Amino acid sequence: MCFICDRIEQIKNGANPYFVRELETGYVVIGDNQHFRGYTLFLYKRHEGKTELFHLEPEERAKFMEEMALTAQAVSRAFGAEKMNCELLGNGDAHLHWHLFPRVAGDIENYGNNGRGPVWWYPMEKMYADENRPTPEELEDMKQRLRAELDKLI
Ligand SMILES: [Zn+2]
Repeated sequence: MCFICDRIEQIKNGANPYFVRELETGYVVIGDNQHFRGYTLFLYKRHEGKTELFHLEPEERAKFMEEMALTAQAVSRAFGAEKMNCELLGNGDAHLHWHLFPRVAGDIENYGNNGRGPVWWYPMEKMYADENRPTPEELEDMKQRLRAELDKLI
C-alpha cells in the first residue's frame, strides 16, 4: 500500500498523532522530523493514479494549489519563517503531497552553497535523525499553533 494512503487511513481512524486539519482537497499534517521547525505536509486526499498536478482537473487543481498556499501562510505565521519552501516531489511516494518547509538563516549550517540552498542539501541522516522528532508535548503545541493560524485564514 502507498505510504501516504496508509497515513490518510490512520487520520480517518483517528490514529495519526501528526494530523492537524482536514481541508477540502487534502490533509494538513506535521512532519515526523523537525530539524526545520514547523515542517508540515499537505497530503492530497485522493491517489487514484493522480501523481502530477497536470493530472487534476483545472478546478480541483486550483483549489489544491490555493489550499497549499494558505497552509504555507499559516505555517509561516505559526513558526516564524523567514522564507517558505514549498515542494511537490513524489519520487519516493507517488502520491501528490506538498512539503512545506519554514526556513530561517543558518538552518542548513554550512552545507550547500555556504549555508544557502534547498533543504535537501542538508545531510539526510541529520535531517531524519531521531532527536529531531517532536515529543508528544511539542507536537501538541505545534498542532495548536498551526490550527489557530489556519482558522484565521480558512
Ligand atoms: Zn497514495
